[in-house]
Amino acid sequence: MATTTTKPTPAETSPVTYRAAVVHKFHEPLTVDEVRAPELGPGQIRVKIEASGLCHTDIHAANGDWPVKPTPPFVPGHEGVGRVVELGPGVTEVANGDRVAMPWLGYACGVCDYCVSGWETLCLEQENMGYSIDGGFGEYATAYAHYVVKVPDAIDPLDAAPLTCAGVTTYKAVKVAGTRSSDLVAVFGVGGLGHLAIQYAAIAGGRVIAIDLIDEKLELARELGAEFTINATEKDPAAEIQALGGADQAIALAVSPRAFEQAYGSLRRGGKLVFVALPADNNVTIPIFETVLNGITIIGSIVGTRTDLREVFELHAAGKTHVTREVRRLDQVNESIADVEAGRVTARIVFQL
Ligand SMILES: [Zn+2]
Ligand SMILES: [Zn+2]
Repeated sequence: MATTTTKPTPAETSPVTYRAAVVHKFHEPLTVDEVRAPELGPGQIRVKIEASGLCHTDIHAANGDWPVKPTPPFVPGHEGVGRVVELGPGVTEVANGDRVAMPWLGYACGVCDYCVSGWETLCLEQENMGYSIDGGFGEYATAYAHYVVKVPDAIDPLDAAPLTCAGVTTYKAVKVAGTRSSDLVAVFGVGGLGHLAIQYAAIAGGRVIAIDLIDEKLELARELGAEFTINATEKDPAAEIQALGGADQAIALAVSPRAFEQAYGSLRRGGKLVFVALPADNNVTIPIFETVLNGITIIGSIVGTRTDLREVFELHAAGKTHVTREVRRLDQVNESIADVEAGRVTARIVFQL
């Protein structure tokens, strides 16, 4: 309940129950259920969702694919965007009516070495939206006010949703890759993440090569600024990129260990390979000898911080990026997952609530 330090909340904005897509058992279809709205604890807020993107991570969560698994029942979704409708005790960072994004990093301790040195995404105490905290696949979600990011008014919430994970994740990957003007950057996988990675690499001054298995996606890549495209079903991307001089940086976004190996093979001496995608098959073969002799750097990059997400929103509000998306209803969640798994979606699916 509200304390004296908290603004009173109009009763009509506090739902008792709301509709959400729930995972009850791994590998089984989600069901859209009426779920109970939890009471808000200190520092928490309730958000009425407007848009929520479908990320590959949500599918891995629903399948229990990774070593650390969520506990069903849970609501996936870490690209939820909506308006704040209720404030828990002590919340001062946001006000009712603010539009906020609720990213993967739903909570961190705020005091450990990682948190205080700009690496909150590595905090050991972290909680994740749509994984250990119920996420954005519902009419409402509960979040920690410290860890939401305000969405500028100029941004359509349907664009803000994919930017909240796909955007910030690829923006950070380009940051850690250290792309500078005239660098050759190979982006492996042109989906929800890749179509944004291409744009961030180009904004950083890179010359972009996009690699995918589907011609339609490569066409999108060219529209978004890729200078070269390679269909990996027709040509060996590593050989093609070496013929261009080799990539200064390669960003692995396709959920296939083979693509990671091709990305490695595409690097020039001194090149950097950024691991971003998380294939269910957790192993990749990288040669030690060539890595040492060629001075190769391999970097793992997980999402981005609140600062990174603010920068992503700034770039989009300034008209520097374009989000390619397909809008669907929440009750289409299972067919949407099937479409993403089959590669039938050009970029990102966004549920409109
Ligand atoms: Zn994601
Ligand atoms: Zn921490």
